[in-house]
Amino acid sequence: MGLLNNKRALIIGVANNRSIAWGIAEAMHREGASIALTYQNERLQSRVEQCAANVDSNITLACDVADDDQIQSVFEQLKQHWDGLDILVHSVAYAPKEQLDGNYLKNLNRQGFLTAHEISSYSFAALGQAASGMMKGHAASMLTLSYIGAVRAMPNYNVMGVAKASLESNVRYMASSLGADGIRVNAISAGPIRTLASSGISGMRDFLNYVETVSPLKRNVTIEEVGNTAAFLCSDYASAITGEITYVDAGFNAIGMAG
Ligand code: NAD
Repeated sequence: MGLLNNKRALIIGVANNRSIAWGIAEAMHREGASIALTYQNERLQSRVEQCAANVDSNITLACDVADDDQIQSVFEQLKQHWDGLDILVHSVAYAPKEQLDGNYLKNLNRQGFLTAHEISSYSFAALGQAASGMMKGHAASMLTLSYIGAVRAMPNYNVMGVAKASLESNVRYMASSLGADGIRVNAISAGPIRTLASSGISGMRDFLNYVETVSPLKRNVTIEEVGNTAAFLCSDYASAITGEITYVDAGFNAIGMAG
């Protein structure tokens, strides 16, 4: 008996098999959920189709979250496969690369700030709005991915940290907005993991080394561990958890000073 038997999960943010969204898709599939994936653009389509096949899914839909029509279209198309939706996973972030290097204020510009917030925070609310009709009354839940840079200033993370703070606030407002419909909204704040997106952050190796040195568990985390927590948070075992940011970071957030 899987944690997610009979649940249907739409997962947004698989780029390849190193993506956190892929760790989540595999864990949810293992726990009995049916999976649908989206791809950002044609360049990623065939890789995402291959990933979908590996979790016994033939539902892959185009979704660039910068485009309102594509957001609407995803749910119109999904309705042709499923009459409801139990899980929405948002594992998407982007900021122009030059914003993720060096001094925050020296490198910041208006467009970089707006893009980071649009793709990394607004898109969760926009998807939540579009998905809520299919999710209402299903003991459903939404999940997004954050990072400790939302609440602490981290080197080079810069405007992405400010966008993650907005995303975490979105989690609380969305939880409040959707609670009456029985829809829960949560985030996982994951430790650093090598992925396509994180390779755009300057000094990523230093982030990984630092966590290995100072975190209570003295190691980094994996996409499988994030996936397992995601499966729990979207299962009925987490039925009283909403508006919450759960750290999956080997305990790094609990440490004030390296011992
Ligand atoms: P990834 O590159 O595998 O995934 C990022 C995804 O965002 C990709 O699938 C990409 O296609 C998608 N995306 C970007 N712009 C988009 C757009 N306009 N429309 C639709 N999709 C778009 O990297 P990842 O590390 O798995 O990132 C997933 C999430 O996890 C992000 O929110 C990231 O900030 C968060 N996160 C990552 C780490 C880490 O260290 N890797 C740590 C904590 C949180």
